[in-house]
Amino acid sequence: MTTAHGAVETPAFMPVGTQGAVKGVTHRDLESLGAEILLTNTYHLYLRPGDDLIARRGGLHRFIGWTRPILTDSGGYQVFSLAARRTIDEQGAHFRSHLDGSAHSLTPETATDIQARLGSDIAMVLDECLAHPADAAAARHSMQRTLRWACRARDRFLALRDGLVPDVIVSNPGQAQFGIVQGSVFPELREESARHTVDVGFEAYAIGGLSVGEPIDVMYDIVSRTAPCLPADRPRYLMGTGTPADLVEAVARGIDLFDCVLPTRVARNGLLFTRRGRLQIKAARYARDPRPPDDGCRCYTCRTFSRAYLRHLFAAQELLAYRLNSLHNLTFYADLMADLRAAIERGESRAFVENALASFREGVDAPSY
Ligand SMILES: [Zn+2]
Repeated sequence: MTTAHGAVETPAFMPVGTQGAVKGVTHRDLESLGAEILLTNTYHLYLRPGDDLIARRGGLHRFIGWTRPILTDSGGYQVFSLAARRTIDEQGAHFRSHLDGSAHSLTPETATDIQARLGSDIAMVLDECLAHPADAAAARHSMQRTLRWACRARDRFLALRDGLVPDVIVSNPGQAQFGIVQGSVFPELREESARHTVDVGFEAYAIGGLSVGEPIDVMYDIVSRTAPCLPADRPRYLMGTGTPADLVEAVARGIDLFDCVLPTRVARNGLLFTRRGRLQIKAARYARDPRPPDDGCRCYTCRTFSRAYLRHLFAAQELLAYRLNSLHNLTFYADLMADLRAAIERGESRAFVENALASFREGVDAPSY
């Protein structure tokens, strides 16, 4: 995948830098572990420090000091999950800030404008995030609204690109915009949404509204049904997923791009992903364990420290514990993607997927992911 700030080898995992920083690690850590693209959250940056301030500081790349590609979400998901007193109508989402209670509206047009000011390489359209479970009628209504919003977002994006919106600073003229397929757990709605979203004509496409509490096999089934409806020559992005096993299963179904807070969030709770399943570093059995978390891992944490030391740091609530655990989990995700790319190039992706899933199930602590 090529962007205005360079190429990204796919399949790829995007670490989540909610506020313009990935919790617990530095940008240099991310570069050394091989992260080629970062995701940041529009909702948070819009409320604080503000998209206008970031535009006037030269855009997001310059403001946060990250030179590689950046994808921004639309802000919609956080409005649905974080904001207070939100209401949704045809125009958009109206809500109060979770920080200070101030009133805001996020529409397909304003979500596009905010991301133009931020100057990410990939902007996402505003979509309606339906709670799970939803019945078919509600899912259809929501999917159709998302389609109408997609048309409005694309019109606005093209107007910005053509310089027709003089009051909005466009920080990155090479920005791309991805459409989002919705339709809940209903395959026929997903197919319809994919067809019409592709008709609108975006640089590439994402599958949204999964990993929201539906059974795992339902998610895999929806991905299987939806991915083939999206152009093979464009990256396909599965939003907000997931565990290492989810990534492997989804790549096998044609997905190219992922983001998830999971590797860093669980790292801060002492959970390490390894090639043989999960490892809870706080467990008493590691108190005297001289081995690294994962002896197959190249990360600084595994090359340098024992399980015993990492357990001690975590128990003592040392800040270094959060960094070392996050560094390992992010490296594990980056290497899993690199191994998948290599297996695909060798034509051995099927065997790799089966071996990886079986190996995860062996389990250091838990039977499986
Ligand atoms: Zn490691």
